[in-house]
Amino acid sequence: MSSEVRDSETFLIKVDSTPSCLQCNGSTLLLAQFPHTWKNSFGQDVSGLREAVLCPSCDHGDPAATELLALYSVDGPVSPENLDVFGGLVAAWVESVRQRSVDEEALNAEFELWKRGEL
Ligand SMILES: [Zn+2]
Repeated sequence: MSSEVRDSETFLIKVDSTPSCLQCNGSTLLLAQFPHTWKNSFGQDVSGLREAVLCPSCDHGDPAATELLALYSVDGPVSPENLDVFGGLVAAWVESVRQRSVDEEALNAEFELWKRGEL
């Protein structure tokens, strides 16, 4: 069984082997990967991928994550079988992560690593 679920054309959800949380080093519930475009120092649009993890400790204060975490505790882990139930909430969470302002320098560094295959 594949661990990757393509929920739509806009993002990819991974539900097992998710990385540890960057903030608290705890285990995360899911990983979202989505295309992201930003401007480089020359003002050109650069396209890449961004990743976000859902951490039960760090994200429970996030309104978009709260409902998802609540459903998680009722329905258990997100899986390809129950993604329909989670779909809307996952999409809302990904959208909110997307809207978050991003430290461009960190992102550029991340993109460099990603290009070199170190992420
Ligand atoms: Zn965390």
